[in-house]
Parts: sequence; C-alpha cells; structure tokens
Amino acid sequence: MAILPIVICGEPVLHRVAEPVTEFDAQLRTLVEDMQETTVAAPGVGLAAPQVGVGKRIFVWDYDDQDVAPAQGVAINPVLWITPSQPGLPDDDEFEGCLSFPGERFGLRRSERALLRAQDLDGEFFEIEASGWFARIFQHEYDHLNGLLYVDRLVHPDSRGAQKAQRKNGWGVPGLSWLPGEDNLEG
Ligand code: ZN
Repeated sequence: MAILPIVICGEPVLHRVAEPVTEFDAQLRTLVEDMQETTVAAPGVGLAAPQVGVGKRIFVWDYDDQDVAPAQGVAINPVLWITPSQPGLPDDDEFEGCLSFPGERFGLRRSERALLRAQDLDGEFFEIEASGWFARIFQHEYDHLNGLLYVDRLVHPDSRGAQKAQRKNGWGVPGLSWLPGEDNLEG
C-alpha cells in the first residue's frame, strides 16, 4: 500500500474523459487500495483515479454517515443518474472542496438524489441509491471521470472566487501535485 501524489488543477489527465477499466486484475486492486489509503491520508471523502494521474473510470469514497453502502467503497466504470437540482444559488451548507483544488471551498448546487450503477473489484455490478452529501460525493467524483472539476461548474460569484484562487496559487498549469501526509494541504 502506498500514499499517492494528488495532481492539481491544470494537469491534463484531470481535464479529459477517463477510459473504461477492462482488466479486473491484481494491478487494479493495488491501485484501488492505494487510492483508499490516499483518501484517508488526505483526508478526503472521495478520490477519482485521474486525481492520482491515472485516466481510468474509477473512484473511491470514504464516507460513513449513511446506511445505504459500506463506509469505504469503490465504483468502477460507473454510470450515474441524478434528479434535477433545485433552481437557485447554493445554500450555505453546499460548499464543496476538491483534493485537486486543495484548501479552497466554493458553493455549488447539486442534485439531492443520485443512483449509482458500477462494477466492483471483481467486475460484479452493484447499485447504490444515495441522497444528500453522499449523492454529492458521487456527482463530484463522477464528474472527475468526465474531465470536469467542481470549479468548472461554479456560477458567479463563486466562479470568480475560484479563478482568483487559481491565479493566487499558480495552478492551472501541468505538472503540479501534492503528497498527503507530507504537504500540509487539504481539500
Ligand atoms: Zn475532486
């Protein structure tokens, strides 16, 4: 097991569509274990493979405030169906962060409910119906697999705040990463 470096906004793998997983082998298992260890170390509630530089359709979560799924899990080749989001600007409790845009948080309206269908490490299909923050995590991580960061979805004035943060931090260019446990940042 290993803690992996997390790439930062601007690294190309974060901004392109990830490829499906076709081999359910030991290498995949090791990657997922490392992603889970990295999520705990960060700490974060979820992590997608592109965030550790791997352009594959995989995400993990570490979120135990729900009874619809194990607190730690992995979704491989996921499909996500969501309910329409409520119109309007985000509420105060809708501030999101991202380990690839570390240390910053911005408000984003998301759908309240999501249905996830994905494969596990053995290639078996499963479904999880999530609501609230768990549904938000699924939407955030699923976006990563389609080359989208949550900051790409922000609306004014949060979009402006994210642009300023990116400039201030010198992000938005290739080659930047941080290592949980060594660099003192959090998402
Ligand atoms: Zn993220």
